[in-house]
Amino acid sequence: MEQILDKVMDETESLIYFQNEAYKLAEHYQIKRPIVKFSCCKGGYYSPNLQIIKLSRHKITSPKALLDCFLHEFSHHLNSVRGGEMHDAGFKRSMWSVATYYYGDPLVYNWKQDYINVKKYFERRVKETT
Ligand SMILES: [Zn+2]
Repeated sequence: MEQILDKVMDETESLIYFQNEAYKLAEHYQIKRPIVKFSCCKGGYYSPNLQIIKLSRHKITSPKALLDCFLHEFSHHLNSVRGGEMHDAGFKRSMWSVATYYYGDPLVYNWKQDYINVKKYFERRVKETT
């Protein structure tokens, strides 16, 4: 994990890192890969029409938070190409799946910082598995 966070922090390696991760995740889910860009504003953003993930290194300064934000936005991409919208049921399932696949344990994802309905979904899944 620390090696990953070092890469996320490195100005030049960071974008390449996220683009690679998007490629690997898209390959895993057998979907088209999204474009990943850095932007000045907003924390994270996904455009379903352009299939672009935008992340702000200025707004999100913690590497783990930036990584989580990337996974959140990738989950939007996954849900969107499957016909879902915003933070619907499909998104929550996607979020859980992506976090499980990426971290090996969905709870490494900082779900407590996510939107309330995503948080509730994670809480329910945690209860079901314990
Ligand atoms: Zn979202």
